[in-house]
Amino acid sequence: MTICFIGNKFKYEIEAVMKLFLPLITFDFLFDEQPPQDGDICFIERVLGDGSYRLSVQVKMGEKLEEELCKRIGEFYDKADEADLCRMLYRIMQRLTGITPAWGCLTGIRPVKKVNGLLAEGKSKTEIFDILKKEYYVSDQKLELAYQTAIAQTEPLKALDKRSYSLYISIPFCPSRCSYCSFVSHSIESGSAKKLLPDYVKKLCEEIEQTAQIARELDLRLDTIYIGGGTPTALSAEQLEAVMAAVKKNFDISKIREYTVEAGRSDTITEKKLEIIRDFGATRISVNPQTMCDSVLKAIGRRHTAEDVVSAFKSARRLGFDNINMDTIAGLPTDTPEGFRHTVETLCGLDPESITIHTLTVKRSSNLFAEEEKNIDGRISEMVDFGQKRLLDTGYIPYYLYRQKNTAQNLENVGFAKAGYECLYNIYIMEEAQTILAVGAGGSTKLVNTDTGKIVRLFNYKFPYEYISRYDKMIVKKDGIAEFFKNI
Ligand code: SF4
Repeated sequence: MTICFIGNKFKYEIEAVMKLFLPLITFDFLFDEQPPQDGDICFIERVLGDGSYRLSVQVKMGEKLEEELCKRIGEFYDKADEADLCRMLYRIMQRLTGITPAWGCLTGIRPVKKVNGLLAEGKSKTEIFDILKKEYYVSDQKLELAYQTAIAQTEPLKALDKRSYSLYISIPFCPSRCSYCSFVSHSIESGSAKKLLPDYVKKLCEEIEQTAQIARELDLRLDTIYIGGGTPTALSAEQLEAVMAAVKKNFDISKIREYTVEAGRSDTITEKKLEIIRDFGATRISVNPQTMCDSVLKAIGRRHTAEDVVSAFKSARRLGFDNINMDTIAGLPTDTPEGFRHTVETLCGLDPESITIHTLTVKRSSNLFAEEEKNIDGRISEMVDFGQKRLLDTGYIPYYLYRQKNTAQNLENVGFAKAGYECLYNIYIMEEAQTILAVGAGGSTKLVNTDTGKIVRLFNYKFPYEYISRYDKMIVKKDGIAEFFKNI
């Protein structure tokens, strides 16, 4: 399909709305140019008239044609014009395709941030629902989910001060690569990635030390720690110990409120590693099965069984972990609604403190949805709906929510927790509410001014080999932290 912009360049948002309805289509874009004669075409127009201007959208798909237009008085106002054009396009595409996306035309990744903003303005639940329905056509079901999530975040978001921060430690290695993986993570099956590990851990410990010094000099206060990946427990017990010992030596962890290690895949979890995690002060771990069906585990390239997950979970309990999270993904290759139900039921039976339900993110090149796109998407919604309802009925509450690009049916990822077990780090990163100092390859430091909402990002090199070989060049970027906090 060709999208022609006339008198405007609102490509980003318009494309995002189009993708809600046509996720697999590649679009061509023209700006104030003659459109092609044939094929599906969409016109997004903003045209000047006499003391007024006209916004119009016209879409031709096959034999069908739909259009809407409206007149505006006064000057162009880009934000409002763009939002109006998006709504017009959304209504047209609804009519042409018969699809009603559950999140309406709310395309950003942080719906809860919008609700939190409206709550901060003193709006009531009814007013918030009215606004989000009118502006974005969000369904009641998703509004309720976003609202409940925002309410669960009220206390954790209140407890912040402007010099508190979280520390993120990136371990972008995994024992093997899952077929659906969209992260930059390196399988240590390949000899070359494994060979990098000793140097990676060395540089990481250096960066931990240098970051701690910066934080001390700026009088910043460490609040939470998150060691994530990849799979942090892909490190050997000695390497994991070296990283956690570097944290303990360089930071005062006696007053932090949370310390998570994403243990991740059960094929990497040993009692020895769990003991190290516990003894070096972590208070929360993740054991992430994604599915409890052996056939699906096999299909996604995992080398462990559901039984291994249960046994890793039980070991963690035996060793004293009383805050365990388990992740699932709805829509994995070969999974079915029955299979997903089995996964959720099994996890509920294990009774972890939190369970996260993700929706599969589809790579653009993936042919996962190519044939029976709607069919499979419908089944993923069914899985997500079942999982969310089952967790709500069991007493878990949604406490963080985010969406990603290219997620099946534009659905969401939701963290559910028992009351009091909400992961603070997850809330702060999703709501961009607290500074995060990140270390390791792929780490992205996010500096947040809690007074003004201003955010500055500093990126580490993405790949471990670059991180190791260009470490000295990269570390200079950390001067940006002092620069940012100079006037705060
Ligand atoms: S465990 Fe996670 S990060 Fe590692 S390969 Fe699988 S999906 Fe990717």
